[in-house]
Amino acid sequence: MKISIVGTGYVGLVTGTCFAETGINVTCVDIDENKIKNLKQAIIPIYEPGLETLVKKNLEKQRLSFTTSLKDSIDQTDVVFIAVGTPPGEDGSADLSHVLNVAREIGKNMTHHLVVVTKSTVPIGTSVKVKAAIRDELEKRGAQIPFDVASNPEFLKEGNAIEDFLKPDRIVVGVENEKAQSIMSKLYKPFVLNNHPILFMDIPSAELTKYAANAMLATKISFINDIANLCELVGADINMVRKGIGTDSRIGNKFIYAGAGYGGSCFPKDVKAIIKTAEKNNYPLRLLQAVEAINDDQKKVLVNKVKNHFKDDLKGKTFAIWGLAFKPNTDDMREAPSRVIIRHLLDAGAKVNAYDPVATHEAQTIFGDEITYGKDPYDVLIEADALLLVTEWPEFRMPNFKVMEKLMKSKVIFDGRNIYDPMEINENGFDYYGIGRKSIR
Ligand code: NAD
Repeated sequence: MKISIVGTGYVGLVTGTCFAETGINVTCVDIDENKIKNLKQAIIPIYEPGLETLVKKNLEKQRLSFTTSLKDSIDQTDVVFIAVGTPPGEDGSADLSHVLNVAREIGKNMTHHLVVVTKSTVPIGTSVKVKAAIRDELEKRGAQIPFDVASNPEFLKEGNAIEDFLKPDRIVVGVENEKAQSIMSKLYKPFVLNNHPILFMDIPSAELTKYAANAMLATKISFINDIANLCELVGADINMVRKGIGTDSRIGNKFIYAGAGYGGSCFPKDVKAIIKTAEKNNYPLRLLQAVEAINDDQKKVLVNKVKNHFKDDLKGKTFAIWGLAFKPNTDDMREAPSRVIIRHLLDAGAKVNAYDPVATHEAQTIFGDEITYGKDPYDVLIEADALLLVTEWPEFRMPNFKVMEKLMKSKVIFDGRNIYDPMEINENGFDYYGIGRKSIR
């Protein structure tokens, strides 16, 4: 079997590489010439654990190749995946221009039967638009080439993407006929051997499944953050409450950690997009509107604590930030809470020294020289008035308080992910502020 993946970002590159790993011949396509030039030499544009090794291996085995030419890539292909970005448009609904551009390109260049699979996260009805775009182009050139469309939303998590793709909780595929189902079954056979289920369904259900999944996860986060804020007002500890509810098997203990809000390229945009889809159908998704509003506020909770501690006078103060990526194990800073926190600190006249194990280059494209960047966690603590822990990278979990004490101007820690034991921090002479728990001064 031979397949093409159009869009070589977080999803497309992982998808292509993991399919190649099963022995399939994969061509990855992108319009970004520089990215493709680098990928041909196994230079990976993103930080994703394990990806570089797999790309190198499959390049060497000649099962994986990279090109900027969609035309060449689909020449002898059986299945073409569309895995380009679907960023939020101005009104919050998903911008489908990249997806539909690719569909038109496919229509212009296809020469034989293809299954065109949308892997990007797209609103209900997109496959109808994809189909129409391909058909229009075929008609323009008077060609009658049969094709099928399918929807195969992706559930991988950045930072654990390879593992998620190779051992998925489930694979969701929306199809319209048995032919497409049979081709997709064959393609995914290696991934379902160990009882990982493949769920075939109609296309609108597959499209909505992805949004419903992300909306549910975002809801869990905003729910626990809302309860955390209440905890502070009534003297309860969110970690106790989390354990207390998480042991109920109906609730479960995953994804109920209080923090500085969700970010990343998916939850914020997908919550927005599903709200928009519902609005267009005259049905307000009131729960998700609240989820979004709570999250917007939650990104400011840590800064508000900083302002309270310093009595609203941040001018000239220096703040150390640990963690810039929206979560550990990625360099992705799209919609990251760190961006909101840093912007508020700068607007209040403060200086920011930031450290992240892998996202510094990304932060430089966002903040340039508005902030300074450290080589290691301790570097940014020099003369700092406080430390803000924003992303819970493992290397921040057991810091050397004795060293920190010597470097910092004042001993205050704002723990945006509740990774520290407040008593231990306090015993080391630091003031401690967490999320949804008592601050200790
Ligand atoms: P990305 O921005 O990292 O990558 C998109 C790539 O598509 C870029 O390299 C861009 O150059 C390329 N591209 C754009 N237009 C093109 C065209 N006409 N032809 C060829 N290439 C083109 O995006 P991503 O994070 O990989 O997300 C892709 C889709 O997958 C989105 O819909 C997203 O919501 C969804 N998704 C993302 C994740 C995630 O964790 N990042 C997880 C699941 C689903």
